This record gives sequence, C-alpha cells and structure tokens, in this order.
Amino acid sequence: MRKVEISSPNGIPDLSAFDGVDFSAAEHRPVVIVGTGPAGLTAAIYAARANLNPLVIKGPEPGGQLITTTDVENYPGFPEGIQGPELMQRFEAQAVRFGASLRYGVVTGVDFAQRPFRLLIDEKTPVLADAVIVSTGASAQYLGLENERRLLGRGVSACATCDGAFFQGEEVAIVGGGDAALEEALFLTRFASRIHLIHRREQLRASKIMQQRALTHDKITVIWNTVVEDVLGESEVEGLALRNVKTGEASVLPVKGLFVAIGHKPNTDVFKAWLETDKLGYIQTRPGSTQTNIPGVFACGDVQDRVYRQAVTAAGSGCMAAIEAERWLAEGSDTDTPPVLTSCGVGQSCG
Ligand code: NDP
Repeated sequence: MRKVEISSPNGIPDLSAFDGVDFSAAEHRPVVIVGTGPAGLTAAIYAARANLNPLVIKGPEPGGQLITTTDVENYPGFPEGIQGPELMQRFEAQAVRFGASLRYGVVTGVDFAQRPFRLLIDEKTPVLADAVIVSTGASAQYLGLENERRLLGRGVSACATCDGAFFQGEEVAIVGGGDAALEEALFLTRFASRIHLIHRREQLRASKIMQQRALTHDKITVIWNTVVEDVLGESEVEGLALRNVKTGEASVLPVKGLFVAIGHKPNTDVFKAWLETDKLGYIQTRPGSTQTNIPGVFACGDVQDRVYRQAVTAAGSGCMAAIEAERWLAEGSDTDTPPVLTSCGVGQSCG
C-alpha cells in the first residue's frame, strides 16, 4: 500500500474510524461503485462489461430517487412510460447479468490517501478499490421546522409515492413549486380529496407541461406567496400555520398531511474532506469528465450535477465514469507514482 500526498479541500480527513481495522484480508476490487441510482447502476453495467468485476454498494436509499417516483415518462425507450421502481429493477438486473455484485451497506469512511483506496462499510467491513465511482445521489430536503421533524412519518412525508395512499379522502398540503412538487400533487389526486400546493413565490419553477396538468386539475389549489411556519398537531398532523410573505397575513390550514418537495441535498458527507465540492455540497468534476480532484475517484449522477438532475443524464454520466475508470486503470495510472495534488487535480480547475 502506498501513501498519496494530497491536500484536502474541506479540512483534514478524519481517519480515526480506520484505527484497528485490518485491511490485510480485505476484499479488493478494481472498481467499487458507491450508490445504486441510474448513475451507479449504469456505471456497474459498463464496468462489468469491461471485466472490472465491480462491487456496488447499495446504501440507505437503494435505487435512488426513482424508487420514490411513479410514472417516468421521459426515459428514452419507454414510449408508454415506466414505473420508477421497475426501471431501477431493470437497471440492476442488467448490471447483475454482466457480473456486477451488489451488497447492502453504508460507506462510513474512505481513505483516498492510499492506493489501493480504502473504504469502510458499516463502520467495520474493509474494502480495497483501485478506482472508486461515487454515485450517491441526493436526498430530500426538509423545511427545518421542529414540529416537521417530530411529526415525520405521522403526517409529514417527503415521498407522496410512498405515503400518499394513507390519505384517502383527506385534505393534504404539498410545499414546493418544482417538477417534483407538481408530480407529487398530481399523484396525490388519486387518494386525497384536496391538495393545497403551497409555494413561496407567485411563479412555479416546474416545467410548463407539469404546470398545465397540475393547475387545471380540479383537486389541486395553489396557495401563492406563502410559507409554512409551523406544523400543528400532537400525535399526528392536524394543520399548518401559514404566512403570506407579501401581506404578512397569518392563517391556519387544516390538513392531515404535509408533503415536502423542496429539492434535494447531495449525499457527500463521507467524501467531503477529500473531494472538491461546491458551496451546496455537489462534487466538482473536471469539465466534460467525471474525474474528481483525486485521480482514480470519479463522480457521476446527481451527486455532481445540480443542473440537469435527470435519470437519463445520471445514467449518461455513470457510463462516462465507468469508461474513464477503465481507461485510467488500463493506463496503469493506479500504480504510477501518485502526483501531489493541489486543490483540484494537477494544475487543473474542476470548474
Ligand atoms: P427544484 O429545485 O426544481 O424545486 C424546488 C422547489 O422548492 C422550488 O419551487 C423552490 O422554490 C422550493 N423551495 C426550495 N426551498 C424551499 C423552502 N425552504 N421553502 C419553501 N419552498 C422551497 O427541485 P425538484 O425536486 O422539484 O426537482 C429537481 C430536478 O428534478 C429538477 O430539475 C426537475 O425538473 C427534475 N424533476 C423532473 C421530474 C419529471 O420530469 N418527471 C419529476 C421531478 C423532478 P423557488 O422556486 O422559489 O426556488
């Protein structure tokens, strides 16, 4: 094992989790892929077909965001649309068919200062990797209200697909003005008697087609220029305290459910000390590439994409990551004398 001298972008990496962990008999793979959304599983398909025997780590939200999506109508090749979970099952079956192995676990530590790279799964299982592909995606954001957290799972949810059926015949609210909020609002019309879409501005961010569908639905009412100040209820949601940001007027909206659809946060915590991220935490990669500031570590999908964030772009960047990892390994770069890194590669800007 060789030491790689690096300067880490976000503070000194804490390697205490590695104390006492014996890596001498650890599983050693050419490629380890962290995350099983469209990016990670596409990387797995390509890496497996390149005989790189990839190990794919299925984390806390296996399948990624598509697992909590209903109809996916914009993934090419499915003119009638496909259910998100089914699409992800197909990705996984295709990766397994070519020899990728998947295992459940959470990557709780990484050491990118050594080659092979060292990873800790579930705080105890050591794994070695010649190249690492990070495809950990992004997770749902919440409003940050104390009672929102307290009532999570008791009326508060970030996943209409998962929890919508609990609100048969009830009035519910959904916060957000993006495609996700409108998609979830439309999904909820199958169950709820009325859906109040609460948006902090007077213009939706969502695509025109989604706006047209949601705004013309007779079960959906939009409450404009309004924020949720509190979630009311003891053991379950009974209502929301609202404030109109234009007039300052406060009101109470009696609803049984609050669905939060205000975007996502990239899952980079375990990598942050090593990999360059932007101010929102998205991993920075070199322009036109999935290469991070650490040679041999690649990032693809929503964890490094705050612009497109689509299943098809995630899959495309997963393909890029696997091809780049394959080329990097084929060039013997993992065994070259490792370069001393500056903040984002050798004299490169991650841009
Ligand atoms: P977006 O970032 O597109 O939208 C987030 C929404 O939440 C915005 O309207 C934003 O308001 C609002 N918001 C953010 N923070 C707060 C807050 N603290 N309080 C109140 N409101 C808040 O995220 P989405 O998850 O909707 O979508 C992510 C990406 O995925 C997008 O590119 C989207 O197009 C895509 N997508 C596509 C789908 C499809 O094609 N079927 C389905 C779902 C998502 P504001 O507008 O004021 O910033």
